Amino acid sequence: MENTEFNRGLLDFLQRSPTPFHAVQTMTQLLEAGGFQYLDESDSWVLEPGRRYFTTRNDSSLIAFISGEQALEEHGIRMVGAHTDSPCLMIKPQPEHKSQGYFRLGVEVYGGALLNPWFDRDLSIAGRIVYREIDTGSLKKTLINFDRPVAIIPSLAIHLDREANKKRSINPQTDIPPILFQLEESENVTFRELLAQQVQTEGVITDKIEVIDYELCCYDTQAPALVGLREEFIASARLDNLLSCYTGLQALISSEGEHTRLLVCSDHEEVGSASACGAQGPFLQSVVERLVPDSGQYSRAIDRSLLISADNAHGIHPNYASLHDANHGPLLNKGPVLKVNSNQRYATNSITSALFRQWAERVDVPVQSFVTRSDLGCGSTIGPITASELGVPTLDVGVPTFAMHSIRELAGRDDAYGLHLIMAEFFQSETLSF
Ligand code: ZN
Repeated sequence: MENTEFNRGLLDFLQRSPTPFHAVQTMTQLLEAGGFQYLDESDSWVLEPGRRYFTTRNDSSLIAFISGEQALEEHGIRMVGAHTDSPCLMIKPQPEHKSQGYFRLGVEVYGGALLNPWFDRDLSIAGRIVYREIDTGSLKKTLINFDRPVAIIPSLAIHLDREANKKRSINPQTDIPPILFQLEESENVTFRELLAQQVQTEGVITDKIEVIDYELCCYDTQAPALVGLREEFIASARLDNLLSCYTGLQALISSEGEHTRLLVCSDHEEVGSASACGAQGPFLQSVVERLVPDSGQYSRAIDRSLLISADNAHGIHPNYASLHDANHGPLLNKGPVLKVNSNQRYATNSITSALFRQWAERVDVPVQSFVTRSDLGCGSTIGPITASELGVPTLDVGVPTFAMHSIRELAGRDDAYGLHLIMAEFFQSETLSF
């Protein structure tokens, strides 16, 4: 697969994945097309060498793996990790806010969202709902996606706030409830009733239902696109971190070799990863234990494994260049970034980074490095968390981006493709140590 085709697939993946649930659904479709077989966590597994498998947890985290021909305690597991969630506005359980004849939705900010860009966007709603079938009384779940602009958060006009460009701050309780529609006289519809109608409209369910609960978020309907005079950039919501999910997925699907290789895409990174399906939970460990049930062999296998944790990096922004260390300012389209932090906000060490550089050299992809300014704090990601949970040698990498956690982020056209080549090389490499 070459770059243009890869990016076409990436843009399509981003478009079809407005929520972590949809990202897992889209990955499931791609995995099944690639010959992967679904395993239910609640079943016992019989794994055959050379076969391809995947499992999911909470419908929002996923682990896919190719079972190798060789003993794991001798050859280890080649792992890539990423996360499925992105900062967004989640709809509250009792969201009805009626004011001035408008039906607004109460929302909760999920993760470290940059709130300004959410104003004046054509928003849609997607996620998971749980409903009861009226006839049978049984509980069921489904994903929904309004897939059209149904809500909007209008800005306050500058005439009503002359200091807006200098001083406007955003109160997440009062300033951002999106307007869903204008109420008719004496209309008294609930949000759940509207959801039940939408489920029927989408044609997923034809029986009469009652919506019980949900996890739904607002998202921007503007489609992902190549932008720039020479189309050098990818603009989209959720590049952090669906770009890495897609990159790891394509590397895994296209990889060759005899070794066991695995992709883990976890939910809840943006809120600290501490959940049953998050990177700080037991999901990955329990899958690896099924691959290596003997505890002695498990320890040996982990010691011989390696995890590439992929999550986007901050490219040096030309309008704010002083916010980077002058020697560590990654450029878009100049290669994936090795992320280093001696305070262990990133898990990279000189051994894991040297191996990564070697794989990159073999596929002729340049590598950059990022260290935060010494007078600024540093973000973190699933790398250090997974390293602490499993004890697996780990490194943190990611493609350079602008506008991280905005409703629309920006990455380079070449970097995701380059990272996928390096990951594929890693998946088929003979040795993980020296
Ligand atoms: Zn991220």
